[in-house]
Amino acid sequence: MKVHLIRSKNYNVEDFNNVLNILRKNRGSIEFVPSEPIVIPAAMQEEIYDTKKDFETQKPFPESRDICSMFAENKISFPHKRNTITWEELFNVCKNYRRDSKIDENDHVLLLNDIPNENNWFGCVDSTKKNYFVQTNDWDWYLGRSIDTRFPVAYVIVSWLLRSLMYKNQTEIISSLHKESKGCMMDYCIDKTQIIIKMRTADLCPECLKVLENRDINRTYARQLFQIMDGLRENIMFRQRSQLLMQLSRMEIRGLSKSIYLTDLGDLQINLNPKERALYLLYLNHPEGIQRSYLIDYKDELRSYYAQISNQATNELIDIAINRLVDVRDNNMNEVMARIRSKFKNAVGEEQAKDYSITFTPEGTHKILLNRELVGL
Ligand SMILES: [Zn+2]
Repeated sequence: MKVHLIRSKNYNVEDFNNVLNILRKNRGSIEFVPSEPIVIPAAMQEEIYDTKKDFETQKPFPESRDICSMFAENKISFPHKRNTITWEELFNVCKNYRRDSKIDENDHVLLLNDIPNENNWFGCVDSTKKNYFVQTNDWDWYLGRSIDTRFPVAYVIVSWLLRSLMYKNQTEIISSLHKESKGCMMDYCIDKTQIIIKMRTADLCPECLKVLENRDINRTYARQLFQIMDGLRENIMFRQRSQLLMQLSRMEIRGLSKSIYLTDLGDLQINLNPKERALYLLYLNHPEGIQRSYLIDYKDELRSYYAQISNQATNELIDIAINRLVDVRDNNMNEVMARIRSKFKNAVGEEQAKDYSITFTPEGTHKILLNRELVGL
């Protein structure tokens, strides 16, 4: 079975690739296939959220008025107005993609969408049980910086695939969702603070397990989905424990592009651009640290990293970029280091970012503090 992941044009491609990495970590009979970005219709329908609670509420699926509330940091002022897209439009994006790309009718098409949807759900499946959307926006609002948003996105994807596998049709799926949260994957209240609790359990309640047992469900698909869920749970546990135990993830530098992965955090890729990566590799290779004014002495090494991983067409462009970086009168190095720090902060949180980033030490040098035994090259 193939699951075609399509993304709306403004959903960050690096985040998309990271979600894909997470899903693909457990290979099996479900194959996740990425696609080119899709331009989806402009959000025309204006939605007004009078209160914070309105904003944090998934509107009920047909009649039920059950709502769930969520705790959140207050960063948006209410009433809050924004444009939304209808579910029909979202599912039409999947259908059109299916038609245009001649997708097999047994395959699933899942849109990762960054435009707010009309009912403010985190995802849903259509009546064919083959087309889905999953929201990629708003996670920061609910989770702050406490967790990388790629994990909940992957979690929601797997939840919907499992639901689609377990139940006969869309109506049955919706009616089977638990109105009261049980920490089960079938909970209706997919609010983003609760999702952390659910990712920690990443399991079905006994009632839902019975459904799984009693129905003719493809076990290899289900096993793979549970393995992905287990991986997500390990990541979240590692993240929470690691803060407590001051335990850092291992790092791997892979391929010709020298991409950086944190292996204990679900193979989380740190998306440094070529210039950031070149500077990072230089400091990684010099645990003793390098003083700002001596950076120029390492120009050849820096240049060789950059030449290998950048797409710059000419030597001249490579030289311009590197000269700026090592020039003490230019602020470029500080800017690049700040961006590296910010990307690690997004990925591992502020506390641990100090070990992974290039930091300024009291001795007056810049260095990466990370224990090099954790680094696989
Ligand atoms: Zn359940």
